[in-house]
Amino acid sequence: MHTLTHRNLTFLSVTEIRKELFDTSELIAAYRGKDPFFSGPGGQYNAKVVKVAESLNMSMVLWTVFPKDHEEDDPNVIIKECSPGDGRRGYIVPFRQGADL
Ligand SMILES: [Zn+2]
Repeated sequence: MHTLTHRNLTFLSVTEIRKELFDTSELIAAYRGKDPFFSGPGGQYNAKVVKVAESLNMSMVLWTVFPKDHEEDDPNVIIKECSPGDGRRGYIVPFRQGADL
């Protein structure tokens, strides 16, 4: 999961970080159950963010491939970005919806 407001969590207080993660988690849980993973907007994090997440039983996970789908409309280009071609498996790829990210 991500966050509702997409603010850089490293600039927020512990209370604000907790609210972002908790509120987002509760909303998602209402539709598809608890998600124990989160990624900070922009991949931004620090020890404070990780500690708050852990207090909510969440683990931070970042992506390993960035598809740039917010910059590109051609699906063939996006697919190529998501296929590094090194034969490894298990990549984490964040896909986006909409242009306002
Ligand atoms: Zn984001």
